[in-house]
Amino acid sequence: MIETIDLARCTGCGICDLVCPADVIHMEDQPSRDGLAGMREQRMLPAIRFREHCITCFSCEIFCPEKIVDVHPVVRNRPRAW
Ligand code: SF4
Ligand code: SF4
Repeated sequence: MIETIDLARCTGCGICDLVCPADVIHMEDQPSRDGLAGMREQRMLPAIRFREHCITCFSCEIFCPEKIVDVHPVVRNRPRAW
């Protein structure tokens, strides 16, 4: 089951969201530090929204170019029958 994503090192590429077959990871707007002249910078970062749906396929961990997604090998949920 997916455990953590190290957002401090995340580039926001969105690959983990794209490859997840169980719709666990969602890219969401995250306010980041203030930019020049007080402008707020906005960037998309992955959020673990439906951890209980994770089928421990390891796709997010394998395909993340930064290798910052941690999936624990224990499968707590089984794929649904459909
Ligand atoms: S291990 Fe598989 S199902 Fe679980 S969050 Fe990653 S890509 Fe999705
Ligand atoms: S694949 Fe990795 S670097 Fe890309 S958004 Fe997901 S966690 Fe961040």
